[in-house]
Order: sequence, then structure tokens, then C-alpha cells
Amino acid sequence: MTVSVVLFTSDLRLHDHPALRAAVEAADEVVPLFVRDPAVDRAGFASPNRLAFLADCLTDLDSGLRERGGRLVVRGGDTVTEVCGVARRTGADEVHMAVGHSAFAHTREARLRRALAADGRRLRTHDAVTTVVPPGDIVPQGSDHYAVFTPYFRRWSGEPLRTPLAAPRKVRVPNGLRSEGPPTRASVPGVSEGLATGGETVGRRRLGAWLSRHADAYGTGHDDLGGDATSRLSPYLHFGAVSATEAVHRARSRGGQGAEAFVRQLCWRDFHHQVLAARPETATEDYRSRADHWRRGEEAEADLRAWREGRTGYPVVDAAMRQLAHEGWMHNRGRLLAASFLTKTLYIDWREGARHFLDLLVDGDIANNQLNWQWAAGTGTDTRPHRVLNPVLQGKRYDPDGAYVRRWVPELAELPGARIHEPWRLKGQDRAAYDYPEPVVDLADGLARFRHARGRD
Ligand SMILES: Cc1cc2nc3c(=O)[nH]c(=O)nc-3n(C[C@H](O)[C@H](O)[C@H](O)COP(=O)(O)OP(=O)(O)OC[C@H]3O[C@@H](n4cnc5c(N)ncnc54)[C@H](O)[C@@H]3O)c2cc1C
Repeated sequence: MTVSVVLFTSDLRLHDHPALRAAVEAADEVVPLFVRDPAVDRAGFASPNRLAFLADCLTDLDSGLRERGGRLVVRGGDTVTEVCGVARRTGADEVHMAVGHSAFAHTREARLRRALAADGRRLRTHDAVTTVVPPGDIVPQGSDHYAVFTPYFRRWSGEPLRTPLAAPRKVRVPNGLRSEGPPTRASVPGVSEGLATGGETVGRRRLGAWLSRHADAYGTGHDDLGGDATSRLSPYLHFGAVSATEAVHRARSRGGQGAEAFVRQLCWRDFHHQVLAARPETATEDYRSRADHWRRGEEAEADLRAWREGRTGYPVVDAAMRQLAHEGWMHNRGRLLAASFLTKTLYIDWREGARHFLDLLVDGDIANNQLNWQWAAGTGTDTRPHRVLNPVLQGKRYDPDGAYVRRWVPELAELPGARIHEPWRLKGQDRAAYDYPEPVVDLADGLARFRHARGRD
């Protein structure tokens, strides 16, 4: 009897899984393994919302494997020790896993490869499991990555894609292997009340339903905050419960402007992954330094607190921050507004904002979070790094009837139409009727401070 191990990391699915497929084809029996490694938590990747979503994903993966005659083996401990232990115990020659793109993933992979080799076993890594096009596969002349999205998108769009793989029909797991079983969401404290349910089953259902019912409206509606018309697939993609490659295939075969716009967004995901893979230090350091001396001290701390709590006095920014706290997710336009407001209008370090987002976002990941923050702060790949989004104009444009603000800032709900975006215009008793803070900063002052800091006044 030959045995192989497949190590799941951020690829928690059965459909379109090249590493699982290779493991099933390579041996009579397979150990589908997930290791709950405390090093992952220590590295800051774990948060209550992501741990709860992970628990759903693992439970669903286990059920899917059981329907196919197998089960998921869950172990707690150091990944390398646990994988080597399982491989030794079962006599597995090969371990299969997806290539990861963060510095953490590279180190883990290198350690595992060495430890397995010392035992006479082999690590086989599989590309294009988490991204559609692997980082480094397409590069411009003279560089190891694309720094501008549009030419990257052009190249990316012409790349041949592998055909999505079906889920295996049968998975035979060796008997007698110890497993802690998947964790439960109920065991995770501090989870956002409105957090989505995780897992491949829910993710695939969402992908199918969204493509058939909502994709057409996406081209024009993706920025409409109140319309909430985006796919909300980001957490499923982040945990690999849905394959990005399969999502691109299905969107392309559906066709239409909305589906094309959706594919373009999926390309942004790959774009940030290839930047991070080439420049792992950009998780914490400026991709392009603007010689910023970010505000610090008590006043800046108070502004940061108001921003985190959704009490800046700018309704659309506050709505976005409260959505984040309640759902562990935020609309993309809200993320852009909240990030521009923090880094440019308040001139506070993007790392502060990125940290708060990572604490709460269920889809929070190093590539997309840190590099989108840098994009918004003008230290990343934005070709217009000094633009500042005005939260009032943006609110009126992307939430024209105030539906989004009304949903998340209920104390302003009675303000009609777009007037909800400027509560400070109310006078006297009318203003006093609303228990809502005054703006933490005057927009013109914030803009002048930012321009001055960037030497553009
Ligand atoms: C400051 C800031 C922080 C962000 N942090 C994250 C993060 O930690 N994790 C994350 O997945 N996305 C992040 N994004 C990108 C984007 O906001 C989310 O991916 C998107 O809002 C998720 O909603 P959706 O699934 O409905 O997206 P849709 O509009 O339906 O798009 C489909 C998919 O495309 C990808 N995508 C869309 N926009 C982007 C983008 N700008 N960058 C990278 N991928 C994108 C996502 O995987 C998304 O699920 C961030 C954006 C900003 C401005």
C-alpha cells in the first residue's frame, strides 16, 4: 500500500485542488492533513474572525472528505514536526502542498523540504493553487515583478489557464491516525456578530448564485456602497475554499461586462501577490518611500481611536468602520475611503490602519491588505500617489441616497437623502437632535497638512 500526504494551508477545498489531485493519483492512500500551528497565530495571521471562519472551512472540508470515504486529520503543533511525524507513521514517500507566497510560507516550505529530505522523503509543491497566475511567471523586461497594474493585467489576461479539476470521487485515508478533529466556531471568543459562514460548500454556492444573478450588474454597481453588489467572495478566496482559477473560468464562460470587471478584480489579487512575493519586506516597509513623517503623539492617538471606533464625524467613513467591526468585512469603496482618510486626511501611518484591518478582516491577508493600504497611502503602486479622496464628495457619489450610512450609522438615519453626508451643516437645535460627533478635522486643513508633508504646497 503506498501513502502520500497532502498538507492543506490556505487552500481549504476539494474542487480544483492540484496538490490533492496529485496526492490521490500518486498513492493508494492519502492523508489529508491540516496543522494548527501556534507559529501562525504568533505571526499575527490569526484573529477571532479568521479563526472562526477557518473552523467553518475545516469542518466543511472534513465533511466533504467523509462523503468520499476519508476524513481530515487535524493536528496541533509545529507544522514540520507534525508533517514529518505523520509521514513516518504512515510510510508516506511524498508530501504535497500548495506554494505559498508570503515570507512566512517560504520559510515554512524550506524547513519542511529539508526535514523531509533528511528522512528520505520528498516535498512536492504545486503552483497556481492560491493565485491564478503564479508570482514570477510573468515579469516585465528587466524586473522581477510588475509595479503597474494595467500592463500586468494585459499580460495576465493572455496567460493560458489550467482547466479546473473536479473534486476526487474517493479518498482513502489510512486507519489509526490520531486527529484532534476540526475546531468549532463556537470555541472562538470575540467574533464579529455578522461574520459570514465559511467553507467550500457555502463559497461555491455563493460563486454560482452571484455569477448567475448579480454579475451583470457588477460592472456599473460595484462601487455602489448601499447596493452591496459585489461578490463577497474574498474570505472564501483568502482561505482557498473557492479556487480563483475556477472563478476566472466560470466568469469568462459566463461572459458580459460585469463578469469581465469581476475577472479584472481577481487579477488585482494576483498583482498584489506577485509584488509581495518579489518584495516580502513591503509587508511592513514602504514599497516607495515618500519620506513621510507620520503624525504621532496624543492628538494623533485620539484621531486614530476615533477612526477605529467609527466616530470621526464623517458619516461614510464611520459607516465603513462600523461595518468592519460588525461583519469582519468591508465594501471595497469603504476600504478605500477609510484608508485614504486615515493616511492622507489624518496623516497617520498606513501600518496603524493595516494592523486594525488585519485584526478584524475575515479576508485579511498580508498581500492584499498591506499592499492595498500602501496603494491608498501613496507609498505603494498607485500611479497617482498624492490624490486624496474627499469623504463628502465620495459619499454623495457612491452612496447618493445615504442608504449605506443609514444602515451603519443609525443615529443619523432620519437625515434625508444626501444630507446625511454633512450633518455639521445642521444648526442649533436641529444639530443637537443628533448624538453624533463633530468632524475630527476640517477637510481643507487635512488636505493642506498632507500636501505640505508631501512637499506639494
Ligand atoms: C485598504 C484596503 C485593504 C484591503 N485589504 C484586503 C484584504 O486584506 N484581503 C482582501 O482579499 N482584499 C483586500 N482589499 C481589496 C478589496 O477591498 C477586497 O478584496 C474586496 O472588497 C472584497 O469584496 P468582494 O469579495 O465582494 O470583492 P469583488 O468586488 O466581488 O471582487 C472579487 C475578488 O477580487 C479580489 N479583489 C477585488 N478588489 C481587490 C483589490 N483591490 N486588491 C486585491 N484583490 C481584490 C478579491 O479577492 C475579491 O473577492 C483591500 C482593499 C483596500 C483598499
